[in-house]
Amino acid sequence: MSICVKKFGGSSVGSKERIAAVADRVIASKSDGNQVVVVVSAMGDTTDHLVEMARELSNGNPSPREYDALVSTGENVSAALLSMNLNAKGCPAISLSGPQAGVMTEAIHSKAKILNVNPSRVKEELDKGNVVVITGFQGISPQNDITTIGRGGSDTSAVVMAAALGLDECEIYTDVDGIYTTDPRIEEKARKMKEVSYEEMLELASLGAKVLHPRAVECAKQNEIVLHVRSSFSTDEGTRVKESKSMEIEKAVTGVALKKNEAKLSILGVSDKPGTAAKVFQKLADGYVNVDMIVQATEQDGSNNISFTVDKDDLKKTEEILQDIAKEIGASGIKSQDDICKISIVGVGMVSRVGVAAKMFTELGEAGINIHLISTSEIKVSCAIDAKDGETAVRVLHSALELA
Ligand code: ADP
Ligand code: ASP
Ligand code: MG
Repeated sequence: MSICVKKFGGSSVGSKERIAAVADRVIASKSDGNQVVVVVSAMGDTTDHLVEMARELSNGNPSPREYDALVSTGENVSAALLSMNLNAKGCPAISLSGPQAGVMTEAIHSKAKILNVNPSRVKEELDKGNVVVITGFQGISPQNDITTIGRGGSDTSAVVMAAALGLDECEIYTDVDGIYTTDPRIEEKARKMKEVSYEEMLELASLGAKVLHPRAVECAKQNEIVLHVRSSFSTDEGTRVKESKSMEIEKAVTGVALKKNEAKLSILGVSDKPGTAAKVFQKLADGYVNVDMIVQATEQDGSNNISFTVDKDDLKKTEEILQDIAKEIGASGIKSQDDICKISIVGVGMVSRVGVAAKMFTELGEAGINIHLISTSEIKVSCAIDAKDGETAVRVLHSALELA
């Protein structure tokens, strides 16, 4: 008997009918002779509603501990309902919370990293003949407090569970039938891919392709687990994320990703002395601000402007920290803009080709799209642009780079 881990996202368990359909699918897999572990997200947009309520009742600043205590509850509902439906259909099942399933995290709230998974209870329940339905997204800190692991984190919950059980594949069921060259909801000519390398998927996911949580890809790569991303609405094969074996890369670019809800901040008139940037970014790191693209522009009077992007959700906190730093280091002020997004092109084929970045900038320029910041790595180029231009940029680049 082999064990399989199947993760179902929010829209896959978005209604009673959808939960019943998931139960049927699980029963079919069990009938094929598998021991089934299911990891579920909260129903539909439950988590968004919980986040909204947390903000409303806390003047926009909920206690991190209570925030996690609240937003983790969406997953409890879907896990218990799925388990009940399985039992009602004659398939023995038990729901386990993240803590009950042995998911230990660091003591950071809302974006905790998973430190360790002890799957002994899960194995025990499987050996009793149960389907084990685990709540994604949650874990427990060394202080015994409930933690959550970041929005979209149930993918990661599934992959760490597959790793702890020693599996070499993990199925991710979602509302699209695989991974496309870009978000098919933005570009209808997007093409479904049969396979994507871990490396490219990690970039795409980190750069906004929310079909997979970046840490799920990282964990899959580390543990050599193939991710099979497929539709919960059909039985068709989806896309496999795995080690790339191809010797020659046909195309420079594999995909286009868009990350919405970014903000740009600048600290102005920073004196041009060694150690200044270190001071600024250390303070931001101490405040758990995840800084993204960074550009330092030299001015003529011997002082710099340093600009960077952050998640829009972190804007208020970052402004406060930056105001303090500006006073401390004698900067002339700060500036922020909250209507930014990031457009990126990704492909391992870029390593051996020149002119890809130039083509991207030319295409954006010809479409009248202004670039605020640029960052590159060997396999990606990203540009911060106005939020209003994001979807147009996706379509322009997808077509210009012949990804269809
Ligand atoms: P789930 O609730 O199942 O976790 P998500 O909403 O987190 O699902 O992720 C699925 C969504 O990811 C799709 O509906 C699609 O709009 C979006 N998406 C973004 N980029 C891509 C891509 N390259 N390929 C497929 N889907 C993508
Ligand atoms: N329910 C959580 C969220 O909406 C986790 C997840 O869906 O993966 O972010
Ligand atoms: Mg998701």
